[in-house]
Amino acid sequence: MNRADAPAAPWYAARPAPVQTLHVHSRYVDGADTLAAMAEAALRAGLSSLGFSEHGYVPVPVVGEPCWMTPEETARYLAEARALQRTLAGQLALFVGLELDSYGYDAALPLDYRIGSVHLLPGSEGLFAVDESRARLLHELGAAYGGDPLRLARRYYADVAAFAARCRPDILGHFDLITKFDESGAAFLEDSAAYRAHALEALDAVLDAGCIVELNTGAIARGYRRTPYPRRFLLERVRERGGRITFSADAHSAAGVACGLQEAAALARDVGFTEYAVLTADGFVSAPL
Ligand SMILES: [Zn+2]
Ligand SMILES: [Zn+2]
Repeated sequence: MNRADAPAAPWYAARPAPVQTLHVHSRYVDGADTLAAMAEAALRAGLSSLGFSEHGYVPVPVVGEPCWMTPEETARYLAEARALQRTLAGQLALFVGLELDSYGYDAALPLDYRIGSVHLLPGSEGLFAVDESRARLLHELGAAYGGDPLRLARRYYADVAAFAARCRPDILGHFDLITKFDESGAAFLEDSAAYRAHALEALDAVLDAGCIVELNTGAIARGYRRTPYPRRFLLERVRERGGRITFSADAHSAAGVACGLQEAAALARDVGFTEYAVLTADGFVSAPL
């Protein structure tokens, strides 16, 4: 076979990291594929370990469709995930977690790790998910926050800071999720000193709580963004403070299980990170990046 015919080397062959993503969804809620299909895809992508993190139950009403499992579905999910963990032992290190919303944080469930995320904010008719749709976010920006994006951002980041301090999840999910539909940064005035102050204050609280910050590429696979959360100025703060990072595909399909991880790792190296946090049977350890 000449060079032109050779299959392209997979990205993970060129660099040793990342080998793990701990942010994965499935058909239990809003993913397209089964847990088993996600695990198979991770093996095909060359990952050596994977964490399941379906959306945990949130016991409050929201505007729009709830995006989480019922307690009964959670029990089924945990049983299936644990069974797969045993079946695939030796091929793929599987970890069983949940992505828990700030309104549904359950510290008692038997999990290997927890991702804590703020999705819900008070709106004009009750709680709404900031990542549901651009239309919903813009509607509530006008109806509940006087059309002032800095007011919405102040509330969101205050909630993130309070949640991190109260619950101390292992990983803080998609830190600046309110920018999902605003990659240019224009709508939330991301270059403004006020926006940055709100976000950095919350990030400091997240780091003070000992949370790992994820470089989350989930919006890339789904076509909303070309860059991961969080923004670079936030990553630079994590680096300056010696905070820990992880790489999350936040995958909602088998095809997206490793989407954007290579680019996110390159970004992290560019910011100056030399290691990242990897979950093992002995807990989180540092791996070279
Ligand atoms: Zn989320
Ligand atoms: Zn997620």
